Amino acid sequence: MAKILCVLYPDPVTGYPPEYARDSIPLIEAYPGGQSIPSPADIDFTPGELLGCVSGELGLRKYLEAAGHELVVTSDKDGPEFERHLAEAEVVISQPFWPAYLSAERIAKAPHLKLALTAGIGSDHVDLDAAIKAGITVAEVTYSNSISVAEHAVMQILTLVRNFVPSYKWVIEGGWNIADCVERAYDLEGMDVGIIAAGRIGQAVMRRLAPFGVRLHYFDTRRLPLELEQELNLTYHDSVESLVRSVDVVDIHAPLHPKTYHMFDADLLATMRRGSYIVNTARAEIVVRDDVVAALESGRLAGYAGDVWFPQPPAVDHPWRTMPHHAMTPHVSGTTLSAQARYAAGTREILEDFFAGSPIRDEYLIVDGGALAGVGASSYTADGSASPGAQA
Ligand code: NAD
Repeated sequence: MAKILCVLYPDPVTGYPPEYARDSIPLIEAYPGGQSIPSPADIDFTPGELLGCVSGELGLRKYLEAAGHELVVTSDKDGPEFERHLAEAEVVISQPFWPAYLSAERIAKAPHLKLALTAGIGSDHVDLDAAIKAGITVAEVTYSNSISVAEHAVMQILTLVRNFVPSYKWVIEGGWNIADCVERAYDLEGMDVGIIAAGRIGQAVMRRLAPFGVRLHYFDTRRLPLELEQELNLTYHDSVESLVRSVDVVDIHAPLHPKTYHMFDADLLATMRRGSYIVNTARAEIVVRDDVVAALESGRLAGYAGDVWFPQPPAVDHPWRTMPHHAMTPHVSGTTLSAQARYAAGTREILEDFFAGSPIRDEYLIVDGGALAGVGASSYTADGSASPGAQA
């Protein structure tokens, strides 16, 4: 019998379950490229339910308790309750939206921990170097919310370029101030758009933006196949410096690891075209927080949007809440009800394999057997020091 510690975001302040806006979600049969959707033996929830909060329990309780395990579900990720249970936990489940940071210090206090499972994508809240040293497996539900994030990124690019938020505010305030709305509004058509990291999400964004009549650029440490570059008419850049000086909009989709930590600092921002936009739904620590604020204030950046902050949740006085020309949301892009159904099923699939002693799908692995593995080996680096993002 194992203890599973599951950290989820708090329930809606209006109560659980919510009154759902729709009766069902569309069935996705496979991911782009053919990767199969999560395939657990069974699920104990109805797709479309709110599963990512404490009362939703990722739909795991019935399955885990029937197998004789103990499931603890809490939203207390920074306080004493988490650390008390961590000392006995064999599995910790956490979501990037409400991350239970697993720093080296915390891993040292978890002698029974064997599996750190991310219900979603992005395992930088786990110190990967410490997990490697401790022999802990780190796994995530690859592809579960990639399209969800891609849709959010496209929405935020349009939100910034079209100056949506100020126009919406005029409506709420009872105004009809056309000139105030449009003095910063442009068409996306004809702009140069640069994608940082053309992985699952980056490619999905490029496919969705191509019909807008933009010129697409990208930078990735791994170049895409020539056929794909030709199909989407992509311009490849072999450095982030080359990309940012060639585009009007930068859209970031790289994992956070030592090579991407603080990639966007004042020096790089100063080389961007005046009035550039940045959308970052990857990880906040890829940019330098206060350098982004300064670039918005100086006009180097015309807008900044995204849904990732550091730490999470951010303080009430976090400068990104009040900086000019932003269109930030809380970390929500990858946790739509549609995405939750997939990552809850994927979490169950990984647990079923883990407890059966069967191999976890390679595409779900980040760390295994004392080394980066699976997707982790191609998308992350671990340099022996603390992973950025793991320490709140
Ligand atoms: P992926 O593994 O499919 O792609 C990552 C890409 O990044 C790869 O092509 C890799 O070559 C590239 N890369 C790695 N290091 C790089 C570097 N130094 N410079 C340039 N490119 C580099 O991952 P994905 O599914 O597309 O997800 C990407 C990231 O998006 C995740 O790691 C996560 O941090 C973030 N994410 C956010 C949310 C959200 O809710 N906001 C949800 C899912 C994922």
